[in-house]
Amino acid sequence: MPSAPLLDSFGRGITYLRLSVTDRCDLRCTYCMAERMAFLPRSEVLSLEELHRLALAFIERGVTKIRLTGGEPLVRRDVIDLVRALGRRLEPAEGQQGGLEELTLTTNGTRLTEFADDLAAAGVRRINVSLDTLDRALFARLARRDRLPQVLEGIAAAKAAGLAVKLNTVALKGLNEHEIPALVEWAHGHGHDLTLIEVMPLGEVEGDRADHYLPLTVVRERLAARWTLIESGHRTGGPASYFEVAETGGRIGFITPLTGNFCATCNRVRVTATGELYTCLGGTEKVDLRAALRSDEPEAALAAALDEAMRIKPERHHFRIAPGAAPALRRHMSLTGG
Ligand code: SAM
Ligand code: SF4
Repeated sequence: MPSAPLLDSFGRGITYLRLSVTDRCDLRCTYCMAERMAFLPRSEVLSLEELHRLALAFIERGVTKIRLTGGEPLVRRDVIDLVRALGRRLEPAEGQQGGLEELTLTTNGTRLTEFADDLAAAGVRRINVSLDTLDRALFARLARRDRLPQVLEGIAAAKAAGLAVKLNTVALKGLNEHEIPALVEWAHGHGHDLTLIEVMPLGEVEGDRADHYLPLTVVRERLAARWTLIESGHRTGGPASYFEVAETGGRIGFITPLTGNFCATCNRVRVTATGELYTCLGGTEKVDLRAALRSDEPEAALAAALDEAMRIKPERHHFRIAPGAAPALRRHMSLTGG
């Protein structure tokens, strides 16, 4: 059993860690980043060995699921070494209870052709790949890089390696809005579930996100007019609620930070590549795990920092998206990861 399970002041057990291994990325999705991003100085980023030690401290406290994210996790040099090291934690010694049950990652897919086999061999079973469009010109506009063929090859490579691939699509008014049914059909036709996400007001980008905000309540109504959506009890430990599509046999997930708050069942915390633990994607509350890790008594300092995190984790986020409004937070999603 974990030494002292992570329980926040609202009684929510924290069993899921999203660990960012870098804030850098080979794409520049317009809703996520500015074209000219100021990235974290490399000197401040934790080494892979430090990220591993942090992850172990969380597992020790009862975390059973770790998602590596970023930025783009697969652009971090030697990241596969971290995946392999954590993958070894997926096989608890005989008689041992608890431990890591799932190791996964969220990726933009551009480097999956290179990494899919290694991920599968390291014990990864499921991954999330972000795909906002199947239209090459729109992809190049949204990601500011012409990489759709590479991403599609990456998805195929992941499938061939035996990884279950879930696609993540940010729903964007006037951009991929009318392509959503085609994306769902493509995903289900290839054996992938697809989760739609509402755009969140995180960090300054060039445009106004409100121009492209598309409430998923609207999308769901449209999809329900086209297909038979059956509420599903399927859960993956994250915030999505799922529906089965009778006609395609696949699942659609909805992540609705704006139109349907899911904070009551939050089981997650996020750690940046510099070791800042953010207790909520939509809040500024944080503790410094790097300082704890590099202190004279790292074990005690980490335990105290995690206790403090549980004390300050807020009850909910208060995202709001409105024309002309500043982002709710200055921090970009690429810092804390998806
Ligand atoms: N680079 C990887 C990727 O794109 O999958 C992992 C990191 S990315 C920050 C994780 C997820 O966050 C992606 O699915 C992306 O589309 C989503 N995302 C980024 N910025 C967002 C925003 N402002 N609102 C909603 N989703 C966002
Ligand atoms: Fe990179 Fe992912 Fe952000 Fe796109 S959403 S810019 S791929 S971190």
